[in-house]
Amino acid sequence: MTDLSATTGVTDRPSGTAQQTGAAPDAIQQFLDQQRPETPCLVMDLAQVRNRYRQLRTALPDARICYAVKANPTPDVVGELVGLGSSFDVASPGEIDLCLAKGAAPESISYGNTIKKRRDVARAYEQGVRLFATDSAADLANIAEVAPGAQVFCRVLVDNTGSRTPFGRKFGCLPETAVELLVRARELGLDPVGVSFHSGSQQLEPSAWEHGISAAQRVFAGCAERGLALRMVNLGGGLPASYTESAPPLADYVQRIEEALDRCFPSARPELLVEPGRFLVGDAGVLRSEVVLVTDSCDGERRWVYLDIGRYNGLAETEGEAITYRLRTSRDGDEVGPVVLAGPTCDGDDVLYQRTRYELPRTLRGGDWVDLLSAGAYTASYSSVGFNGFTPLPTYCVDGDQQS
Ligand SMILES: *Cc1c(COP(=O)(O)O)cnc(C)c1O
Repeated sequence: MTDLSATTGVTDRPSGTAQQTGAAPDAIQQFLDQQRPETPCLVMDLAQVRNRYRQLRTALPDARICYAVKANPTPDVVGELVGLGSSFDVASPGEIDLCLAKGAAPESISYGNTIKKRRDVARAYEQGVRLFATDSAADLANIAEVAPGAQVFCRVLVDNTGSRTPFGRKFGCLPETAVELLVRARELGLDPVGVSFHSGSQQLEPSAWEHGISAAQRVFAGCAERGLALRMVNLGGGLPASYTESAPPLADYVQRIEEALDRCFPSARPELLVEPGRFLVGDAGVLRSEVVLVTDSCDGERRWVYLDIGRYNGLAETEGEAITYRLRTSRDGDEVGPVVLAGPTCDGDDVLYQRTRYELPRTLRGGDWVDLLSAGAYTASYSSVGFNGFTPLPTYCVDGDQQS
């Protein structure tokens, strides 16, 4: 249970992918200093989102980039990505409406959720969406009925080893099943385009994509035997942000992906699609919180630091201590000691880190601020609407390229 204890939260140093963005790193800090917004709040730097998008665009020049909207559905973030020419991976009517409202073309939207109601498929089709994920006969039948002629791709289940937040078995089917579904899709008058997979979010192992790419190759081969030529491989999400645990640089991921594609598709490279969520927005956000109380523990060992942010108003990904944010405090530089970090609600599960070793300044007390760095993904979008009377996490956007 102490295998995570080598990590420390007290560092200002990007320990993760460390792809420096080139944007003013302090645009967010400047906003926090000048505006002093009420806490907790999330502040996003659109310049950093832009830089991440361009980095990925350069690293995978032939792949269509579909931003996974659930990572951060802030309208200005979506609007920024529309402006950059991004496509979008959505999961619900609400996310489709959001993208369209921010100016996305319906053809740029991929309905990537395999779990959807027939009427939601119909609504998406009426709005012009023409690309749908599937992984079951029931969903495929719905699509064929209410989205005639649409493009479909089939999600296969792949090994998520190396992921900090794996998907389990909820999505995806076996490659053999995918062949059957895609052949059936053609019989139903749909346009079966290819295969998708997700290697698991915050995937720290660049070789993880090899599982999905070789599964895709098996589906391509199986379909070819049945006279069906597929043309697209959707590489999913999984690219990392920078938490206390360091992640390899983007170049390592791209190299392993390219090698696997060359090996599995030696004669003709399929069209590529990629669905980054965390990678585009994670490092672009800082979550500012306030210390509510610091108390001594019963055993006198570790102080308990209670923040005004917790499991229910933005830090859902601290469940199982899967995601360990880097921290910065208003008392950095003072002598540090070990702490347990907890949220503000009356729920016993609202404890952020007790197995992971975090050390914070001994001088820390109520009213001080604690910033959680690289908190732009899966925070505001996971915030409850009012558990225990705590309001949903507000998000502000700044632009580091537009400040002097
Ligand atoms: C959540 C999700 C993504 C984004 O995953 P990240 O790990 O944040 O990059 C991509 N595709 C699908 C289908 C998803 O559900």
